[in-house]
Amino acid sequence: MAYHPETEAIRAQMQRTEQKEHSTPMFLTSSFVYDSAEDMASAFMTDTPEMNIYSRFSNPTVDEFIRKIALLEGTETGIATGTGMAAIFSTFMTFLSKGDHIISASAVFGSTHTILTKYLPKWGIDSTYFDMNHPEQIEALIRPNTKMLYVETPSNPGLDILDMEYVSALCKKHNILFVVDNCFATPAVQLPFKFGADLVVHSATKYIDGQGRVLGGVVVGRKELIQPMYLFVRNTGPSMSPFNAWVLTKSLETLFVRMDKHADNALKLARHLESHPKLTKVKYPWLPSHPQHDTAKKQMLNGGGIVTFELKGGLNSGRQFLNALKMLSMTNNLGDSRSIASHPASTTHSKLNAEEKKAVGITDGLVRISVGLEHIDDIIADIEQALEKA
Ligand SMILES: *Cc1c(COP(=O)(O)O)cnc(C)c1O
Repeated sequence: MAYHPETEAIRAQMQRTEQKEHSTPMFLTSSFVYDSAEDMASAFMTDTPEMNIYSRFSNPTVDEFIRKIALLEGTETGIATGTGMAAIFSTFMTFLSKGDHIISASAVFGSTHTILTKYLPKWGIDSTYFDMNHPEQIEALIRPNTKMLYVETPSNPGLDILDMEYVSALCKKHNILFVVDNCFATPAVQLPFKFGADLVVHSATKYIDGQGRVLGGVVVGRKELIQPMYLFVRNTGPSMSPFNAWVLTKSLETLFVRMDKHADNALKLARHLESHPKLTKVKYPWLPSHPQHDTAKKQMLNGGGIVTFELKGGLNSGRQFLNALKMLSMTNNLGDSRSIASHPASTTHSKLNAEEKKAVGITDGLVRISVGLEHIDDIIADIEQALEKA
């Protein structure tokens, strides 16, 4: 990287056409033309994205986004997909085969959990789970057929933090692929490759877009790991749309300033709520009371934009809290410039039984705030007045 990452996020532009456009151009085209039958034949002989053939295989705008994320994450290359789940599913499908075993943190995104428990077994792939609060239990779960270890740090919605250096050393020792979902932190806050990750996946839908507009997913890593993923995406078709890639590339220009402000607002909110009489617990990686605060300080540059708290009144209070909000949005997205509140137990996770909720880190009174970029006093005032009614 020639400049500071903050500068690269704004200035890095991999391609410019002869129009000499200043801003990143968008190439909305399904396919690319050839000058001769021989050229076309040789393009189809390739199994790499160097030559554009068809936008399911590669597209200059999507490539721009991939290269920019890879640069910011500090790695070589990547693939981009239509959603974060497509990125995660493609990662599993590329590297896991019948008879393989995957170890995952139990606290992972709901749909990721569903792939692990409901779909992978259909292809004879076994999974085992560990508690993010007890990484020392991981080694005992490793089997001869364990191929991948999958984590989110911080986790959604529990905000558990995993010591990536410790886990990556275990993975290296046992020749296991270490995959990190870096969605909650983004490369502006945390660089998993520095701590030994093999692949980083993202739901670009969240902070990378940052304004709740488009869906997207991306996986980045070393060339030799991305090549089989490229072929998987090229052939099975979860590819990202060039329009979404263009939106996301422009969004990266403001990623660092947004993440700074999200974290600044989130820390102010967390500190404000810490002693609130209606709450039993406030969780935020930058609060010294967070169980893995020291690990967070080691691997993150700030605490990110998500704060969770536990309402004394449980399920009913959670529902009343949501209904009393005036400014914060009630929606299940996160990482938006607009602050968002969610109460998983009465909404997104209401179908889970008590045991399943516990496994993914959800309690009846848990509220997740995706702290936006509004003035912090307005965010606090709305949460305060809603807590009075909860
Ligand atoms: C939202 C999310 C996903 C899924 O991404 P989509 O873009 O919604 O498919 C995966 N992991 C984490 C941590 C998420 O928050």
